[in-house]
Amino acid sequence: ARRAALGGSRGPGRTADGHPVKLLLNIGSAADLAEGAEGVGLFRTELLFLDRRSAPSFDEQVAAYAEVLAACPDAVIRTLDAGTDKPLPFLGLPPEPNPALGVRGLRVDRVRPAVLDTQLEAVAEAALRTGASPRVMAPMVATRQEAAAFADRARRKGIAHVGVMVEIPSAALQAAELLEEVDFLSIGTNDLSQYAFAADRQHPDLADLLDPAQPALLRLIGMCADAGRAAGKPVGVCGEAAGDPRLAPVLAGLGVTSLSMAAVSVPAVRQALAGHTMAECRRLAGRQEPQK
Ligand code: PEP
Ligand code: MG
Repeated sequence: ARRAALGGSRGPGRTADGHPVKLLLNIGSAADLAEGAEGVGLFRTELLFLDRRSAPSFDEQVAAYAEVLAACPDAVIRTLDAGTDKPLPFLGLPPEPNPALGVRGLRVDRVRPAVLDTQLEAVAEAALRTGASPRVMAPMVATRQEAAAFADRARRKGIAHVGVMVEIPSAALQAAELLEEVDFLSIGTNDLSQYAFAADRQHPDLADLLDPAQPALLRLIGMCADAGRAAGKPVGVCGEAAGDPRLAPVLAGLGVTSLSMAAVSVPAVRQALAGHTMAECRRLAGRQEPQK
């Protein structure tokens, strides 16, 4: 029933003149699955294990991923995004002076490689059991080499669709190179803002710098979308910006192919897209020239 519900009765994301922009869900577990979206664009797997003192077993992980894949066979499962800023006690990471700039996201693999291996094996097993074709993506990727190594690991475990998040300006600047290594990009605007503007994403006094309408952030997003178009590969946005109806037409105009958000945001974003033609979206995005 959930699987049918994800198709949604109110239809897919489209501009007024019918250009598709997929509307996807950000979830922390199967409990967050909801009607009305076209799939899952970000499954934050670390949320399953936040209070755990021991590492989640392979079987527990298979069960959690299979529950989501049974409802949404092409869900994008993000590998653990933890570190001293988002601590997972079982990782036993030492305190760091600059947690946001330290060992977090994919970087945890440098010190605890078994964790990623088990997680990728659990995703592959959950896919086999459900007949799904899952997508995995890594958080906090900074270089082409990291993207290539992650893709190689995931593919060796039998996962066919591999992507990386663009959360660090170095990744946005290398979007074309990353897309030579992986199948899709997903832009995490929460962290991309933090790192592009050197502004702690939690800091209440820096909200203006973290505003996703900042031109420098939009330019980074546009660079990724351009690289995606050139490579013929999807480039989505999955940070908070994706759920903002004021920004959705701008992101569509920049060439983003999907927007992934909390379920509550889907109706307003769908409506905002439907209210603008692609030419209007492109004008809002500062791209006057016709699309090639
Ligand atoms: C982001 O950084 O925009 C993102 C989607 O990841 P998280 O919010 O989980 O860091
Ligand atoms: Mg992030």
